Amino acid sequence: MTDTLIQLTPQVWVFPYDPDPVKIQPNVGIVIAGKHTVLIDGGNSPRHARRVMIALDDIDAPPVSHVIYTHYHWDHVFGAMVFGATAVAHELCRKHLSEMAVKPWSNSYIQEEIQRSPSREPILRAMARAVEDWRSFRIVQPEIVFNHTLRLYLDGISFELEHVGGAHSPDSITVRVPEARVLFTGDSHYPPPPHSRKPGDTYDATLSERFAADERVNWIVAGHEAPRTRAEFAVAKRPERNGA
Ligand SMILES: [Zn+2]
Repeated sequence: MTDTLIQLTPQVWVFPYDPDPVKIQPNVGIVIAGKHTVLIDGGNSPRHARRVMIALDDIDAPPVSHVIYTHYHWDHVFGAMVFGATAVAHELCRKHLSEMAVKPWSNSYIQEEIQRSPSREPILRAMARAVEDWRSFRIVQPEIVFNHTLRLYLDGISFELEHVGGAHSPDSITVRVPEARVLFTGDSHYPPPPHSRKPGDTYDATLSERFAADERVNWIVAGHEAPRTRAEFAVAKRPERNGA
């Protein structure tokens, strides 16, 4: 996968996910709001985030002022330390991240975690591959938190954050940028992560239908797939098409 940004609208870009499932590298949304750059998710590691920074330089993006976490999973959060920005998240995401922040992150801690919960081994190995240097690693804690909805307004661009929950991660939020008609859904409508997935767990049809029916947006950007127009999303997420 290249590091070439995908431009959706004059203000909105996406640093593309990596389709290699072993890498666990999600999309990072980029919204240029006047003097601010706002990111939707912070990347899976400092290395991933530095690649995002290089791509931001290429489009002369203003400094990153905010990183909005769609949910607390590591692959959306662990790069944030590179940006020096204010993190924004749901209250439940903040709670998870404050618990994660005090873990003794290191390769030996990862090994111990693999011993403790072998079903998480693929994720823990991906984490260890993504984060090269644990000594300087830290998890950026959200400073702006909310419960149901939150609106940020920066230089003429609004960010409408809404808690949607879902089986993938109960803290999941969506981020709508109405002026650009783009909706970032994170992983909210995905099944739970592989280690906690049960037979029959699949896409959340209710959430997917809700996103597909949102006439305020033209583009839907989910965590681990290419951005789709709302029409494309509606077809792809129809339950009979994905076996739900
Ligand atoms: Zn996730």
